[in-house]
Amino acid sequence: MPPVIDLEKCIGCGICEECMADVIYMKEVDGKKIPYLKYPDECWHCGACRQDCPVEAITIRFPPEMLII
Ligand code: SF4
Ligand code: SF4
Repeated sequence: MPPVIDLEKCIGCGICEECMADVIYMKEVDGKKIPYLKYPDECWHCGACRQDCPVEAITIRFPPEMLII
């Protein structure tokens, strides 16, 4: 499951575009840079984007099989 990005909180800094799995890219919409999920199925659920986002706009969603202990 890909992360969820709250575009109301996002300030368009582009830090999450550093995703090592190439999930997140930036695009420009109406003169504003916003992140989008280009390859949502490639997410490793590493949490780096959530941790690095300066405004806590990203939520990681774990698939059910990762939550079973
Ligand atoms: S959780 Fe990790 S792999 Fe998934 S989008 Fe964020 S940085 Fe990329
Ligand atoms: S790191 Fe956070 S604030 Fe920066 S572009 Fe990504 S979602 Fe937006």
